[in-house]
Amino acid sequence: MGSITSNTNRRGPRHVVIVGAGIGGLTAACELARFGIKVVLVERRHLGGCATTFNLAGVAYDAGATLCFGLDHPGLLGGVLADLEVELPHHTPPSAWEVHGEGFAVNRWVDRARWLAEAAAVFGPRIEGFWEECEMASDIVLEAALRRPPLPPTRVEDWARIMTSTSPRKAARLAPMIARPLVDLLSRHGLDGGAFHRFCDLQLLITAQAPASEAMSLYAALALVLPHRGTAVLKGGMGSLAEALGRRFKELGGELVTDEAVTVERRLVTLASGRRLATDAVVLNVTPWDARRLLGQLPARHERRLAAQRQVWGALCLYITLPADDLPEMGRFIQIESPVGSVLGDRQSVFVSIAAEERQTPQGLRPATVSVHSRRDQWPGRGSAYNDLKAASQAAVLELLAPHLPSATNVITATPETWVEFAGRAGGRVGGFPALAGTPPPLPFPPRIGPGIWMVGDSVVPGQSTMAVALAGRTIAAAVRAGR
Ligand SMILES: Cc1cc2nc3c(=O)[nH]c(=O)nc-3n(C[C@H](O)[C@H](O)[C@H](O)COP(=O)(O)OP(=O)(O)OC[C@H]3O[C@@H](n4cnc5c(N)ncnc54)[C@H](O)[C@@H]3O)c2cc1C
Repeated sequence: MGSITSNTNRRGPRHVVIVGAGIGGLTAACELARFGIKVVLVERRHLGGCATTFNLAGVAYDAGATLCFGLDHPGLLGGVLADLEVELPHHTPPSAWEVHGEGFAVNRWVDRARWLAEAAAVFGPRIEGFWEECEMASDIVLEAALRRPPLPPTRVEDWARIMTSTSPRKAARLAPMIARPLVDLLSRHGLDGGAFHRFCDLQLLITAQAPASEAMSLYAALALVLPHRGTAVLKGGMGSLAEALGRRFKELGGELVTDEAVTVERRLVTLASGRRLATDAVVLNVTPWDARRLLGQLPARHERRLAAQRQVWGALCLYITLPADDLPEMGRFIQIESPVGSVLGDRQSVFVSIAAEERQTPQGLRPATVSVHSRRDQWPGRGSAYNDLKAASQAAVLELLAPHLPSATNVITATPETWVEFAGRAGGRVGGFPALAGTPPPLPFPPRIGPGIWMVGDSVVPGQSTMAVALAGRTIAAAVRAGR
């Protein structure tokens, strides 16, 4: 395995403590350990956080994340893993996922020609011009990503590096797409207000965390196109990413401490066991609300940014099993639009991920994860109203699944409350801040929150995904190493 490089920067830290082993914390930990920095990574519960595979009664379910993007691209997740010499067995299903909305059904074929032919047949020929524009923007971003600019940017200089990763002519084409929402592009192609608009809303809800009327065009274009440029299903489930990073971290000399909660007082981290770690830098892989709780307070600038943020979503998840007969070996992925008036909310995304053959259980059952975007404020604290809503939500999801998967059994339901417990995320907030048009392109939440104190994870990137937090882990590790 690859060598450990020494940290040549004298101003940089020698010792770093990372709190939280989600994909963001794990990537940052490996990146720092790779440069010879002594890193202790402390996790209160599950390695991988929202991207964990957990076992229940002998069945391995993906807790939240189920699909990887950018794994085969050297400028995206593929590049992060290649630098760390981490290999992940995976395959690409022919269709990223099926989408079933009111009045339309379409398969998101990975093959470009097949996808465009099906999309034009379902939504009409105008989608071709729209799609070409999205591809043009995505191609510029993906080409620029090959130059490894700091993604996401954490400083003004980072923006300069990003803009110079492409030609001035191409940068000029992209700039308006930062300021404008995707609906502008839809309306230019006569596609706003119809079925394709609703299709885009569903796609953007699970990637940008916002509908086409609000999502930044540039981010949205990339989010729409990326599944057609390689969607990866990891062998052994999504948790294999965290496991592989955890193994690599230990090989690089890092210390992983699990089942430990922490308190943080500036750069002194105390574990529940009483062990005290005085360190040069602390990296928090937690939400800003949890960072506030850990540190006692956030700087005024960060509080202002937090107050200006739009509400973050919660998730309702159902874990089910299905008979393995007739299910494809690469898994099956189905997105269903909830109807107007549903207890799940109007036109919410209900995303079903049926695991691949490798994880077939001995009983011939295949585990599946169903995740629904859910408004956290809709959920009352535990009590009878909460139990009623949970039961009604579960019934509504099963009713939507029935035409597609009539034989779902062994249903376990997780609410935003469950996510508080499972991934330690305050209020069950998952998925990070929405990627909105017109927001200044810097970050949703500045990652440096004090001298030697940093944040990593999906609060410091717009939208959400394991790919985005891995890229952020690398960028923030570089900033920590540089001792900025
Ligand atoms: C339902 C759902 C479906 C998703 N689907 C996909 C998908 O298909 N593809 C995709 O790419 N992304 C998906 N995502 C998004 C993706 O999972 C997340 O954006 C990403 O995994 C977040 O990683 P993170 O490192 O920011 O944080 P987290 O995963 O939240 O990790 C933080 C870790 O820190 C630990 N921690 C918290 N507080 C403490 C403390 N005080 N002490 C010690 N440890 C602590 C937690 O236990 C947790 O393990 C999905 C998310 C959800 C919720």
